[in-house]
Amino acid sequence: MPPPSPSTASCARHSDRAAVEGCARCGDFCCELCVQGIARRTVCAACAERPDADFITTTRALVANKRDGLCYLIGCGGALIDLVYLTVGALLLDQQGGLTYVYWFVLSSLTGLFVFLNYLALKPWARRALFGLSGLQLFVAVAVFSRELGGLRSAMFLNAVAQQIIALGLYSVAWFSKRNQAAFGVALDDEAMEALWREALSNRDAWLGFRLALLGLVVPAVELLALLLCVQGLRRTDPDHWPPIGGRRSALIGLSLIPLGAVSSWWLWAAAMPILGVG
Ligand SMILES: [Zn+2]
Ligand SMILES: [Zn+2]
Repeated sequence: MPPPSPSTASCARHSDRAAVEGCARCGDFCCELCVQGIARRTVCAACAERPDADFITTTRALVANKRDGLCYLIGCGGALIDLVYLTVGALLLDQQGGLTYVYWFVLSSLTGLFVFLNYLALKPWARRALFGLSGLQLFVAVAVFSRELGGLRSAMFLNAVAQQIIALGLYSVAWFSKRNQAAFGVALDDEAMEALWREALSNRDAWLGFRLALLGLVVPAVELLALLLCVQGLRRTDPDHWPPIGGRRSALIGLSLIPLGAVSSWWLWAAAMPILGVG
């Protein structure tokens, strides 16, 4: 709804004062005393006090120091992988490679576990430590494989390097993600909060549809649900509503990923079946 023209009207609260602007939420006229700004829009004093109108403050309360999806993915995934490595290190103990290698293995896995558990506990230092950890694990991979265990051209070594490249990519995505920054208590301005509200909180259908479309790149048969959610999310989008309902970008990117996922996920599945011993 476009704000009504205040040229001749008086304030809804103070009948003796001339209105200067209309409220973006309820449409009431506001005088200079009543005008409040939220996310570069004008709202009246009464609306500004409502928790659903001040979505910037609501968003801040919802995301600050609260774990996000990337936090769980990196923290739980990393800890799990390092537990596997600890077991592998223990098995190698009386097989091959010599004790020095096993110590390296155990050292890097234990360091990893410590960092990932602190990352899950939302310790700000752990966010930076992820990058150091990747460096350490690459160094250990070189140290362990350089002379034995198959050498630097072995598939196992290349696999270890590939893992670290994927991990570094994921850490970088998390590092630049506003949602992840908020989880670790990084102070963010109102503009970042507005963007988070629009893309992540105001339109759950678009948000979930985009993530499902992303998952659909590797997991088959989720495309239909992703399609339904993205279409529904796109229909709900309404930037003129107060508070604004965003998610347009998520829904559109999700929609464009769905045909890609329909091909790539089935192809991956077909390639994985013989390896898994199915069919
Ligand atoms: Zn109002
Ligand atoms: Zn007033």
